This record gives sequence, structure tokens and C-alpha cells, in this order.
Amino acid sequence: MDIKKTSNSLQSTYIVEQTIGIYEEAVRLRRMIHENPELGFEEHKTAEIIANYLQDLGIEVTTGVAKTGVVGILHGETEGPVLAFRADIDALPIQENTDVSYKSKNPGVMHACGHDMHTAMLLSAAKVLSQNKQHISGTIKFIFQPAEEMKGGGIMMVEEGVLTNPTVDHIFAFHVWPELATGKYGFRNGAIMASMDTFDVVLKGKQGHGAAPHQGVDAIVGAAHVVTALQTIVSRETDPLDSAVITIGTIEAGDGYNIIPEKARFRGTVRTLNANTRKEVAISIQRIIEGVASALKLEVEINFNYTAGYPVTMNDPKFNEHAATIATDLFGEDSVQWLSKPSMASEDFSFYLDQVPGTFVFLGVGENPEDPMKLHSDVFLPDEKAMIQGISLIVGLAINTTGKIQ
Ligand SMILES: [Zn+2]
Ligand SMILES: [Zn+2]
Repeated sequence: MDIKKTSNSLQSTYIVEQTIGIYEEAVRLRRMIHENPELGFEEHKTAEIIANYLQDLGIEVTTGVAKTGVVGILHGETEGPVLAFRADIDALPIQENTDVSYKSKNPGVMHACGHDMHTAMLLSAAKVLSQNKQHISGTIKFIFQPAEEMKGGGIMMVEEGVLTNPTVDHIFAFHVWPELATGKYGFRNGAIMASMDTFDVVLKGKQGHGAAPHQGVDAIVGAAHVVTALQTIVSRETDPLDSAVITIGTIEAGDGYNIIPEKARFRGTVRTLNANTRKEVAISIQRIIEGVASALKLEVEINFNYTAGYPVTMNDPKFNEHAATIATDLFGEDSVQWLSKPSMASEDFSFYLDQVPGTFVFLGVGENPEDPMKLHSDVFLPDEKAMIQGISLIVGLAINTTGKIQ
């Protein structure tokens, strides 16, 4: 693709040229971060790389936000809105199985979700923007967030005030998306990713001999009924045109052929696409577990983990369309793909979007989208060339958002 020819305006051509100019540095940054992956809330080295890089650009830096997060602030030369960009910086507990030269040096830890690329793109964009302050109206906040993977670093950043001082008007983030070809952006108005909650259940019966079931209360038979009944929440209680998922991921009970165990434990996750369904499913889960367990003479302990659970990632249509217009201007209409369906995976960027209108965009990184690599796989390597689209859109948004989008 001849990138320069697809840009529609002089300004877009300028932005893409700036991005191409920094591309090699972005690759170097990404590989350095990829080689040194760190788990959630342990991203000390990564945070140091980020803070040093931003400081060298003359950007105001705060470290230690939500333990290992870093926030940078850049003021444009004229008045305007406060625009925030967020990159997540944590890696996963996975042993890397690729043979690239910049393979993880940390045994059992890998950037298998592309957060290395999110971080490198935002740092590179910060560099381009710091050299183009004369084109920025307002303030740009660069948010580097720890612990996206299951630990909810996002809510901690929000609680520690990252969206205030100065108050953020709009927020934007990417996730690399292997099911989309490199060169494409995936946009969706409204829900783009599901909520994610978890729950732990313990059913307590009475231990007994396997040959004398009447003398015990069988926790395994009880768990089997409860697990089966839980699926009726999706099939019988949820609007067929809405969506929900209930998955029981572990079940543990007993340790012999002929002993009726006292306890059965299981754990699961719930995904939904709107806040009401999320609440209703939680109520139904509780009712079904308690009702079925009581019918089978079992006691119940349910522990819902809603504090670490992630809300639905809900894009603001106006800001989303604003971003899509800029993307079209940068790389042409073909680069923008409107997604018909959200993903049932989840994302803690939702905590920011709960507070501030903004958008979450999928960035195509698939070299073979027909047979895509999987996020969280031990051989996941997103196409680095996609950083050109990524950096350009961040810079384009920073330069072209001159007022609040309402
Ligand atoms: Zn992930
Ligand atoms: Zn991720």
C-alpha cells in the first residue's frame, strides 16, 4: 500500500510522514519492552523505561500511580480540551514459544496480549506530539496503566484521580486485534467488549460412604444440578437478542471412588453487553444456586467478585465517529471497518469509559486474518507495521480534537 497516496488532506499526509519517520524507533521500543515483560503491578522496569522516555521529551511525568503506572502531561500552544490516551503495560504468565531475536528474557512471562505494542505506540506518539506542540490545542494526557490482565489496574488509576487535574474531556485507547488485517481499524458504536465478573461457589453437604448415599448429602450431585441449572439463565431468562455467557471454568470435589464428599467447589465467569443484564444475571445466579442447593439439602457459600470485575466497554458514538473520520482522512475509507458484533472478551478500559466519553478501537495486526493468531497464545506476535496506523491515529486525534465533541 502506498500510504502517502491514501491520505486525504495535507495535514494527514504530514501526520503519516511524521509517523513513518519514527517507525524504526517504535519498533526498537516495542522489542525492548517485549524482551523485558513484567506481570501486573510488577512493571518496575517498564515504568522506568516509560518515565525516562517521556522526561527526555520534556513531558511532565508522574510515576507510582496505581503502584506502577506512569502519567505524562503535554500542553499544546493554544487552549482546548483535555484528551487522554491510555496504554496498558503488563504482560502475562505465559512461557514464550517464539524464536524471534527479541524473545522474552523473563522465564514464564510474555507480552502475549500486545500491550508491548500499545506502550510503544503511545510513547512514539508522545514523541511526535512533543515536537508538534504548535499544532495542539489543549492538553494531552498519556496514561500508562499497569495490571490490565484480571487485576483491574484501570479502576485503580481512575480511583487515584487520573481523569482529574486537569479533568479529561475524552479518552482513547487501542487493542491490537489479530482478526483484523493490518491496515484496518475496527470501530463500533456502543458496546465493543463485554463485562466480566467472576464468582466462587462452595456447596456443603454431608460426607458419607459411597454405598450408603442416604446417610450423607452428596455435594457432587448437587453441584451437577446447580451447574446445569445455571445455563438456563442464558437460554431461558436472557432476551435472545441480547447476549450473556456463563462459563464454569473449574469444579473440584471428592477424592475417592466410594466416598461421598462433603464439599464441592466451582468457579465461573459471566460476560454481558449491558449494565442491566449484568445486574440481572448476578441476581439470577444467586437465586438458582441457593434454590437448587436448598432443594438438595446443601448449604451454600457464594462469593461474587464484582470489585475486580470489568464493566461493559461502551464507546461514545460521537467521539467514536470523530475518530473514524480522522482515520478515514489518514488512510482512506477502506481502512475503517465497522464491526457488526462486539467481542465477549473484556477490558478494564471500561472503567475510564464509565466516567468520560471516549472510544476503544481495535487495531488490525493480522498478517493472515483468515487464520488469525490468538491473543494470549505463546506464539502471539502482532504485525509491527500496524504501529503506523496506531501512532498516526493517536497523533491525528491529538491534533484534530480542538474542542469537546458533543
Ligand atoms: Zn489480554
Ligand atoms: Zn490486552
